[in-house]
Amino acid sequence: MGKKLLVIGEARDGVLRNVTFEAIAAAKKIDADGEVVGMLCGDTGLSEQAQEMIYYGADRAVTVEHENLKTYTSEGYGQAVMAVAEDESPDAIIMGHTAIGKDLTPKVASKLDSGLISDATSIEQEDDNTVFVRPIYSGKAFEKKVITSGLTFATIRPNNIKPLERDASRSGEVTEQEVDVKDIRTVIKDVIRKASEGVDLSEANVIVAGGRGVKSEEGFKPLYELAEVLGGAVGASRGACDAEYCDYSLQIGQTGKVVTPDLYIAVGISGAIQHLAGMSNSKVIVAINKDPESNIFNVADYGIVGDLFEVIPALTEEIKKV
Ligand code: FAD
Repeated sequence: MGKKLLVIGEARDGVLRNVTFEAIAAAKKIDADGEVVGMLCGDTGLSEQAQEMIYYGADRAVTVEHENLKTYTSEGYGQAVMAVAEDESPDAIIMGHTAIGKDLTPKVASKLDSGLISDATSIEQEDDNTVFVRPIYSGKAFEKKVITSGLTFATIRPNNIKPLERDASRSGEVTEQEVDVKDIRTVIKDVIRKASEGVDLSEANVIVAGGRGVKSEEGFKPLYELAEVLGGAVGASRGACDAEYCDYSLQIGQTGKVVTPDLYIAVGISGAIQHLAGMSNSKVIVAINKDPESNIFNVADYGIVGDLFEVIPALTEEIKKV
């Protein structure tokens, strides 16, 4: 009999995040013949999103709807996940390594008396073991981890495990589980988003990131234009954030977001080790810098030595023609 694999989904503004579908694909890598049970928390109206999890490979889905789950709190979601985990007794629990995943999973793992493998970038089968590969030392090395007994509990880094094809002909049961979510000590009154509209940085396939070389908030405008024609998002180095050219929510690096897009364009960024920690695992890196000795060229697949204020508009114009 196959394993039971519980996937905790995540939505933003009523839309499931892509990492939810990646987590379903990750569950299938643990056991291709296993039963994937999707799970969603929220205050109301989750059935459509639960159905979407089924289209992406879940066999069935469980929703927990409660007024105390309107916005994420570790207390509220923790209670919901614990209730479903106790009811379902899964062999594995998988979630995205997102801000919520990073906060929620250690709490649930400790309550379930289980280990946790965080931030896995791939899952392989080796000698009957499920091996989780995760970057360490800010992406300079990778370690392989295996859980030898008990519950397999892991988070996966967004943008690394390819989701399965959406298949709207798939069917599966969506059930609502009653959970009395109580004793919430933290009340979220309002959520004020600082991040720009558009593509989510941590899930973007293309990122155009600017550094101190961009020189001003105004200087970021051509980067936004390039990101738009590429269908990508804009990121930044801490240098640019510290200089107040952009918001800290765009910061990529050791103390910012860790990203692994298909294409990362580093513009006017020197390539400090702390910045590389957040982007060096990107699939293709293009660096644009006027200093040919800049460290960013050591990690770049393609380098353009030149003035970003000439290169970026020229690049945008060329790409528009395609
Ligand atoms: P700079 O190092 O000043 O580089 C600017 C680059 O722009 C230069 O290479 C220059 O040649 C180029 N340039 C200038 N003008 C042009 C032009 N017209 N055309 C083309 N190129 C041009 N940094 C992060 O990014 N993320 C982090 O998470 C992070 N965490 C940190 C944590 C700690 C504990 C510490 C100590 C530091 C951290 N830093 C982080 C800061 C990091 O060390 C660097 O200071 C920072 O990354 C530098 O940003 P930068 O590359 O934009 O600026």
